[in-house]
Amino acid sequence: MARTAIITGAAQGIGAAIARRLAKDGINIAVNCINQEQVDTQGNKLAEELRSYGVEAECFIADVSDYDQCGKMVDAVKERFGTIDCLVNNAGITRDGLLVRMSEENYDSVIAVNQKSVYNMMKHVSAVMIKQKGGRVVSLSSVAGVHGNPGQFNYSASKAAIIGMTMSAAKELGSRNINVNAVAPGFIETPMTDKLTDEQKKGILSAVAMRRYGKAEEVANVVAFLLSDDASYVTGQVIEISGGLSM
Ligand code: NAD
Repeated sequence: MARTAIITGAAQGIGAAIARRLAKDGINIAVNCINQEQVDTQGNKLAEELRSYGVEAECFIADVSDYDQCGKMVDAVKERFGTIDCLVNNAGITRDGLLVRMSEENYDSVIAVNQKSVYNMMKHVSAVMIKQKGGRVVSLSSVAGVHGNPGQFNYSASKAAIIGMTMSAAKELGSRNINVNAVAPGFIETPMTDKLTDEQKKGILSAVAMRRYGKAEEVANVVAFLLSDDASYVTGQVIEISGGLSM
């Protein structure tokens, strides 16, 4: 039977690239979208493309910062596909600004979407995976969570937390045949990074050993590896995908 993956925030950017790569690997895809508008404008089109690769794909609406919505989505995906073999915690936002000017709202919203969502999803999905006697989880951290980044106090906090959550869950779930890993991308060309100014982009590039930005597909390739049989003895790890931004 084909495996099934839930990918949060899958409608665009890195999430959509991961969906395409996993579908090409023969994995059925639950495309998580934040609302009906995203399903109509992006999700349905992506799901149609994924089905053209010969797998099943469907959109599931949930704001992943909401615990109950995640629970309902996980139930619906299990009902629709029968199993949940892979979870990719990809949904994320930025609300950048210097710490001295960072509002409580911008701090709380980034923690809710980037960090609490990982608890919301893993709490529900790990119960399914334990019953199935196996599964794989990959979460999107960031180099900002490993090394920090000015203007991203909130984002760095959320992405550093994902590393601790990944290692704790790997230790708890390893004996249940569930591998839990994270990737830490550097600067990847997506709608999220389009928002940076030219000056910011130039500054980042000068620190990248490979002197170029990454592509969403280059993140998707590593995620696909971590979800594949080739990575069956890899758990609790954080793989940086940054073109050598930090060494
Ligand atoms: P993006 O903004 O292009 O896509 C993020 C997706 O998450 C969107 O589809 C958005 O609708 C969805 N989303 C946001 N809030 C949500 C919510 N509450 N519920 C459900 N979905 C929600 O961003 P991206 O660049 O593709 O980033 C994907 C992940 O990779 C994020 O976690 C990001 O932090 C991480 N990351 C990105 C980069 C980069 O350079 N682009 C670097 C490091 C880490």
